[in-house]
Amino acid sequence: MTITIPNAEKCTTNYDSFFLHQGEEGIGAFTQLVSQVSKKLQEIYASAEQPFIGKNPTRIEEEIKQIMAFSSEGQTFEDVLDEIETPILKNSLHISHEKSMAHLHCPPLLPGVVAELIIATLNQSMDSWDQSTAATYVETEMVEWLTKKIRFPSTSGGVFTSGGTQSNYMGILLARDAFCHSYWNQNIQQEGLPQDFTRLRVICSEEAHFTVKKAASQLGLGEQAVVTVKTDENHRMSVREVRETLGQLEKENLLPFALVATCGTTDFGSIDPLEELTSVAKEHGIWVHVDAAYGGGLILSHSHLDKLKGLNKADSITVDFHKLFYQPISCGAFLVKNQKHFRYISYHADYLNPVEDDEEGILNLVNKSVQTTRRFDALKLFLSLKTIGTDLFGRLIDDTVKLAQYTASYIDGLENISIQNSRPEINTVIFRYQPPKIEGIDVNELNRTIQQQLLYLGKGVIAKTTVNGKTFLKLTLLNPRTKPKDIHSLLHDIEKMGDELLNGGLNIEES
Ligand SMILES: *Cc1c(COP(=O)(O)O)cnc(C)c1O
Repeated sequence: MTITIPNAEKCTTNYDSFFLHQGEEGIGAFTQLVSQVSKKLQEIYASAEQPFIGKNPTRIEEEIKQIMAFSSEGQTFEDVLDEIETPILKNSLHISHEKSMAHLHCPPLLPGVVAELIIATLNQSMDSWDQSTAATYVETEMVEWLTKKIRFPSTSGGVFTSGGTQSNYMGILLARDAFCHSYWNQNIQQEGLPQDFTRLRVICSEEAHFTVKKAASQLGLGEQAVVTVKTDENHRMSVREVRETLGQLEKENLLPFALVATCGTTDFGSIDPLEELTSVAKEHGIWVHVDAAYGGGLILSHSHLDKLKGLNKADSITVDFHKLFYQPISCGAFLVKNQKHFRYISYHADYLNPVEDDEEGILNLVNKSVQTTRRFDALKLFLSLKTIGTDLFGRLIDDTVKLAQYTASYIDGLENISIQNSRPEINTVIFRYQPPKIEGIDVNELNRTIQQQLLYLGKGVIAKTTVNGKTFLKLTLLNPRTKPKDIHSLLHDIEKMGDELLNGGLNIEES
């Protein structure tokens, strides 16, 4: 076999305008592309009167399929932007619209949005210091800022994650490994699960996020390991039930090793009694993981800080920045009270984070993460906090809670809509269209139809959920630009649509 060695003259293609570098061509191309994108987005947002264009799924899918051909020569970037204008840009959900209020899906703060450009341009990888020389310290300091805010002890630490799913996974992983280490002297990392692993149990409330079960399943314990405890009338985990459950499990010779408390449940935003739960858990020597993916944002609040009482007594905490911290997806953190627990997930690779680096004090954040290559997401939060300041940031969050309280009381005064949570804990409002005298009507179906029609008419993006087997509508009022007049007009549309559906007069076709 002969190997042809390319000669120098063959390596002549000019790629200068493909990358940002010191040369003029790269800088010129970068500036041009950024300004073209900026102009296109200006046009899109200036004309976005509705939160959603209102097309049905099949039509959007077809429009996407139509742009999926790649020519061998490529096109100008401007042409590509024109081509994607309708199928991608206009067919997207406009999450910053005042009437987009379905999920814990926030309008992103502009400093966070443009931070994405810096993050992508620098393209640092957080796994090893030699790939993220300054970024390593930004992330480390941002974690420290957060642990100080929470008043976590000085032994604490943390890492940025892709979001609550990963953070909850890490909490249950570390809790499992720490327990098996102390109870059986079993090193799971090396030896796998202990023989008796089917006795392990995790306790959470029936309203905890589904990712608790998902984590238990992925960690080899199976969903059977998750024991759910009833919530009280305020949708909070009942401490009495937790005590009873712990007693019962111990009687059955089972091994509860972690209690997952929720600080901000997805539907009601309810906050489990953290102080009491952490003290019960302590009596039983079990790990407390607090899922504060949603409620963690209250750390910046001026009026609701007291709701986080007891958070600092947790063993580990999930916080999402892409929810109540208004950062673009994805951005989250996992915090642990004692950093030493990261040893259960740390591996040494000669090429990346050799043991000698640890000895020399070189920080390789891969030691704390379940990911290897990882984004410099900490910059988004850093730039947002710097630009907006903690005072206004806190007011912004408090104003959304006020809007939710206002909305709940406004709905309470409407004849045909009944409110489910007249005193919202954070900023979700749950209600259903239900005129006092209707018979022979499937109210669940009626509300499902209202939610869907609002979406397809582009009049409002709201969520639906189930409470005690009944369908309800849900508003997640994260957008501080949503005002009472938007709420009034949305509820007016809901009432009108409900009335029309009852009278059989609504045209169910897409607009
Ligand atoms: C959103 C959420 C999660 C999941 O987090 P992702 O960021 O979507 O991965 C977990 N728990 C709670 C309470 C949440 O609100």
